[in-house]
Amino acid sequence: MISRRQFLQGRFAPSAKAPPTDEKGQRLARIGASCAAWSNQVCRLCADACKEHAIVFSPRPMAAALPAVKTDKCTGCSDCAWVCPEGAISFVDA
Ligand code: SF4
Ligand code: SF4
Repeated sequence: MISRRQFLQGRFAPSAKAPPTDEKGQRLARIGASCAAWSNQVCRLCADACKEHAIVFSPRPMAAALPAVKTDKCTGCSDCAWVCPEGAISFVDA
């Protein structure tokens, strides 16, 4: 099943980067080392896509801020993974 957001954006099939939504919320997003921030590129696409405001950024001096997932807010919906240009977001069991 796809989320309402995915439907409205015309994304009707899950990709390898974005596993299907787990409606039970038994998994959490995890941001890996391929995130653009580690290459010092400013990107906030995942946070913009997260309706739970579960992705926060930690500022670094003279470098792009690093994103992290707040595990108490993440529902495992996968909206962040759909928009990540680097395929940096995977999921782990909660
Ligand atoms: S969308 Fe992907 S590349 Fe961009 S900040 Fe989030 S995890 Fe990093
Ligand atoms: S899986 Fe959903 S709730 Fe969790 S960080 Fe990504 S967009 Fe936010």
